[in-house]
Amino acid sequence: MALLQIRVEGDDMLKRKAKPVKEVTPDIISLLDDMLETLNSKDGVGIAAPQIGKLKRIAIVSHDDELFEMINPEIVETEGTQTSNEACLSVPGRCGDVERPFQITVKATDRNGEEYTVTVDDFLASVFCHELDHLDGVVFLDKAANIQMINQEQMEEHRRNRRARRREKRAIVRRKHS
Ligand SMILES: [Zn+2]
Repeated sequence: MALLQIRVEGDDMLKRKAKPVKEVTPDIISLLDDMLETLNSKDGVGIAAPQIGKLKRIAIVSHDDELFEMINPEIVETEGTQTSNEACLSVPGRCGDVERPFQITVKATDRNGEEYTVTVDDFLASVFCHELDHLDGVVFLDKAANIQMINQEQMEEHRRNRRARRREKRAIVRRKHS
């Protein structure tokens, strides 16, 4: 496994649309492993392949002991709206409020090449939407209101709050293989 360099705002990779994965090859599996290691090293909740310079439709969300590896994810249903404060590994030093669906159902392929659907709400729904936006070249700043500068200390506090909220809101509604 390897730590990958995270692209930051201003990098063209973050503005481009990622391409579908045709087949889950060993390279794709090691990319998933590297993305997770990189995500964990930054204490993050989610990461998308364009953030590490790969224009592939792959995103990972790590939620307590639950890991969602999504290859070619598609949102198939949404319900309601919510607004929450977001930050991004690719946008160091800033956060902002983003309106997202309250609940979403995503269809994706896992590392075994099997298709599954997952429905999440609240905190996780906003994280999933944030990561899936990266696959279309969209960063949260493009949608955010009340964008604020935050320093390193506040960034850590933001992460602590997100982690606490994540624990509080165990928000996986359904998860099944099709
Ligand atoms: Zn992000």
